[in-house]
Amino acid sequence: MALIVQKYGGTSVGTIEKIGKVADKVCAQAKAGDKIVVAVSAMSGETNRLVALADEMSSKTHHREMDVIVSTGEQVTIALLTMALLDRGCDARSYTGSQIKMLTDSAHGKARIREIQGEGMLADLEAGKVVVVAGFQGVDEHGNITTLGRGGSDTTAVAIAAALKADECQIYTDVDGVYTTDPRIEPRARKLDRITFEEMLEMASLGSKILQIRSVAFAGKFNVPLRVLSSFKEGSGTLIALEDDGVEQALISGIAFNRDEAQLTITGVPDQPGVASKILGPVTEANIEIDMIVQNIGADGCTDFTFTVHRNDFAVAHELLQKTSEELGAKQVVGDDEIVKISLVGVGMRSHAGIANTMFQTLANESINIRMISTSEIKISVVVDEKYLELGVRSLHEAFGLHSDGEAKNLR
Ligand code: ADP
Ligand code: ASP
Ligand code: MG
Repeated sequence: MALIVQKYGGTSVGTIEKIGKVADKVCAQAKAGDKIVVAVSAMSGETNRLVALADEMSSKTHHREMDVIVSTGEQVTIALLTMALLDRGCDARSYTGSQIKMLTDSAHGKARIREIQGEGMLADLEAGKVVVVAGFQGVDEHGNITTLGRGGSDTTAVAIAAALKADECQIYTDVDGVYTTDPRIEPRARKLDRITFEEMLEMASLGSKILQIRSVAFAGKFNVPLRVLSSFKEGSGTLIALEDDGVEQALISGIAFNRDEAQLTITGVPDQPGVASKILGPVTEANIEIDMIVQNIGADGCTDFTFTVHRNDFAVAHELLQKTSEELGAKQVVGDDEIVKISLVGVGMRSHAGIANTMFQTLANESINIRMISTSEIKISVVVDEKYLELGVRSLHEAFGLHSDGEAKNLR
């Protein structure tokens, strides 16, 4: 008998019929004796619909009210699923984030979980009930509804699993596991049986939207065994766990990409102490996150400075940089929001040189120009023109033997 937390994403609960299927599955497992907490997302498309409604109502940002509206999607799903479970003779109860006291900070739209009181859920489980919880939402210390950011139901599930010391947290979605890259871009991508927390965290941070970044960080911190599985297909999915020395490790575990990037360059800035902070200061003060940063070697007392931001922040960052440019007497500001970042991720990289070179050579063979490069112990990222995204990902996937039939090339 195990205590399992399961999360069903938007497409898995997208219709009444699909919710019925989820109920069948949960019910069978509960009747077999497992204690189950289910966290659910809004029905697919619902959160986007709610965001669009709010945008139609007002062009201003009303952070508190936004959370009140977007959190309603999940409330619908918990009630529908609980009805379906009860109809199948499976005792169940639904709870909103505030009812289970999912306490967060007050950062509306991107709240962080502080504490969960598990006693109520444990009492229900002891009494043989399935506990159905609304994902994505919480409550702050003043009783305001908060949300955890897009994809936040993953984090709800992991946080509950950590609080209840569950045996496993299972993320049910529309793919049957974590693949070497998004199968929508490379249909020959291969499903991974396991991946380390560290690699999954890099993949998520570098743009793989299969799991919310925070859910992976949380699972790693509290050592929650996390598994990604299909709602529609049987299988053991992908286990996200600690590094396992006994297992033959791949050199590269996967390729992540991010289309949400934009690049800004300021040229001809005086090459003096304090310039980097003068350039980036106003941008960070405007709450814009900066991703990659590159500064050229100075020549003739001047240098160029390039960084990337989220595409949504491009216009504001461009304006701010224009002002800074005038203040510093720089030459010009150039920007491009049609760029993407492609990254190779793998713990195997740590002990292996030459990966960067293979990566650059592969892109060169396809005549793909690299605009920026950044590396860390277990990843290499490049920025390229957006039009090369598919070609870049597919050629790297091939070069590193990541295809379903290419495993042999990729072992350490
Ligand atoms: P849910 O609604 O269940 O939360 P998401 O859309 O958030 O589902 O995540 C599942 C999607 O993630 C898949 O349909 C797939 O296109 C995408 N994805 C991105 N990178 C990967 C990857 N490396 N492996 C598998 N799926 C990926
Ligand atoms: N419904 C929310 C979203 O679409 C949260 C989630 O699905 O995880 O982002
Ligand atoms: Mg998701």
